[in-house]
Amino acid sequence: MTVRPLLFAANWKMHIDPSEAEAFASTFLRSTTAAPGREIWFFPPAVSLLATASAFAGRPDVRVGAQDIHWEPKGAFTGATSVPLAKASGAEAALVGHSERRHVFGETDTDTGRKVAALLEHGLIPVLCVGERLEERDAGGTDRVVQRQLNAGLTAVDPESLSRLVIAYEPVWAIGTGKTATPEDAAAVHRVIRDDLERRGAEPAAIPILYGGSVKVANVRVLLEQPELDGVLVGGASLDPAGWAELVKRGSEGEGGQRTVR
Ligand code: PEP
Repeated sequence: MTVRPLLFAANWKMHIDPSEAEAFASTFLRSTTAAPGREIWFFPPAVSLLATASAFAGRPDVRVGAQDIHWEPKGAFTGATSVPLAKASGAEAALVGHSERRHVFGETDTDTGRKVAALLEHGLIPVLCVGERLEERDAGGTDRVVQRQLNAGLTAVDPESLSRLVIAYEPVWAIGTGKTATPEDAAAVHRVIRDDLERRGAEPAAIPILYGGSVKVANVRVLLEQPELDGVLVGGASLDPAGWAELVKRGSEGEGGQRTVR
């Protein structure tokens, strides 16, 4: 039987320096003990990767990842972080195609495919982020956009490697806006994603699919009551250690705490 972990992922965006990461970890670890079947992932800025990974060392339920990587292993790419550099700083995973990378920095679908391939080549877990803009949703284009982004991101991935991925469904209009997809709408898109992965020959049950977009303490439980949601990717509500600990606790309660594969 496959069991997917229930996953709580914190995207710190351009916040939390190395000393703040140490202070965050010490507060968070005091209030949150490891729970079976649950993983907590942190995506700090690149400069805080090492400090974050060191601060959480010894907690097997915690992983640290990069917010973005370049697909080339080294070279003249000023400002970029390669997969080997991220890995040497403690990263086990990386976000790919986060909506801010796509829509603020102009990351293309093609870039996401190169990044996923580079991460898999070096043994890191790609967390491929997909999601539609408001005008695309309003025009009935959500499934088409998500499938296009999956196609591009997974273009070079063989069916066997698909099980080493995490997918995050993050509707662009819900990120940092206070608007959240309804649990039913999120679950419907998660089903589209899982069907798509199955068509690619993946063992779809093995791949966690997260929801992201203004998740907070008040809504995490109702979202995770949907069995299609295997966890959450959280920006704003992950920046305060006590608040993040509370969100993880609330999201792990009741039916939200089980992710045995259907
Ligand atoms: C994110 O950055 O991936 C995110 C979902 O942000 P927020 O929780 O602030 O909407």
